[in-house]
Amino acid sequence: MEFKLNIGAPDTEDRVLRMDAGVLYDVIIVGGGPAALTAAVYCMRKGVSTGLITMDFGGQLSDTSTVENYMGYSYITGVDLANKFKEQVRQFEIAIADGKKAVAIEDGTEKVVRLDDGSAFRARSLIITTGKSSRKLGVPGEIELTGRGVAYCAICDAPLFAGKRVVVVGGGNSGIESAIDLAKIAEHVTVVQFLPELTADRVLVDAFEAFTNTTTLYEHEVMEIVGTQTVESVKIRNRVTGDVSTHEVQGIFIEIGLDPNTVSVKGLLKLNEFGEIEVDCACRTNRPGIFAAGDVTSVPFKQIIIAAGEGAKAALSACEYILRES
Ligand SMILES: Cc1cc2nc3c(=O)[nH]c(=O)nc-3n(C[C@H](O)[C@H](O)[C@H](O)COP(=O)(O)OP(=O)(O)OC[C@H]3O[C@@H](n4cnc5c(N)ncnc54)[C@H](O)[C@@H]3O)c2cc1C
Repeated sequence: MEFKLNIGAPDTEDRVLRMDAGVLYDVIIVGGGPAALTAAVYCMRKGVSTGLITMDFGGQLSDTSTVENYMGYSYITGVDLANKFKEQVRQFEIAIADGKKAVAIEDGTEKVVRLDDGSAFRARSLIITTGKSSRKLGVPGEIELTGRGVAYCAICDAPLFAGKRVVVVGGGNSGIESAIDLAKIAEHVTVVQFLPELTADRVLVDAFEAFTNTTTLYEHEVMEIVGTQTVESVKIRNRVTGDVSTHEVQGIFIEIGLDPNTVSVKGLLKLNEFGEIEVDCACRTNRPGIFAAGDVTSVPFKQIIIAAGEGAKAALSACEYILRES
């Protein structure tokens, strides 16, 4: 089998092959993060016809300020690393449907991926790499004020809060990293932590505690986010005394963890207690021909290098499956 490589060709949108509903692809990859993009390179190098369906390129990398633990780069921004991954994929004539969300996956004589725009694409095998997304607080005002003071990514949105008062919810690594970024520019940062202590790494806690414009509320929880056009205040409850206080702030960053993006495969693939897709050591799910890789799976340790490695493994497993089935 021949694979199509265009090293050196200009990386223009015009060259992108659009996915074709009339084609039965060997492999369709769902996702656009490190796992997906690595899987795409492996599939294309194996010469199998491949489609990539994704809402964006980069995934969580686009929310990461700097990466210092991806081999080959002692220091690189998340966006630059995502662009390098994307460039490497674009060397191949891979069919892409980007800006599209997979909403349902069907497994019959062939696999079908249905998208939010009503279109559907068919394949002999699938690789699911849909990663994780920020967990929601689930309090009144959160959805209504998202993008109007409610934020989930300090790297993306912290500059909007220069000189303002903000709340950060969560005392883990993401919460404290965000609080540090915000403390550098905001007037004041209040960290709301559910537990009696911060659970972030010591090095982060030390850096955070060096700021003088911060307050940490231990054993507290956010009850409501209040505002008409934008966030005006946040109601916070002391979990020990039950007292509720109102804090006038212009922003709230929610950093309480990530949930796996498995809506399209619910009821089809076996999930573990954390809602992650269960895979074996070859990235096989419980359905033959459907593979999964990266943060969306039960594989421990959610890191770029692990997602990329698992993406490679899933691609090789999918190629082996196609060979065996043909
Ligand atoms: C703030 C932050 C900092 C981090 N820093 C580091 C670090 O320094 N070093 C490190 O190794 N790791 C870091 N990580 C973790 C790392 O980013 C992840 O482990 C890695 O991105 C996981 O890759 P993935 O491809 O599995 O999933 P993701 O990166 O989550 O990508 C998932 C992709 O799937 C797409 N998608 C989701 N649902 C659908 C759907 N239904 N249809 C179509 N497409 C869909 C998304 O748009 C996205 O493109 C960090 C994460 C965060 C949030």
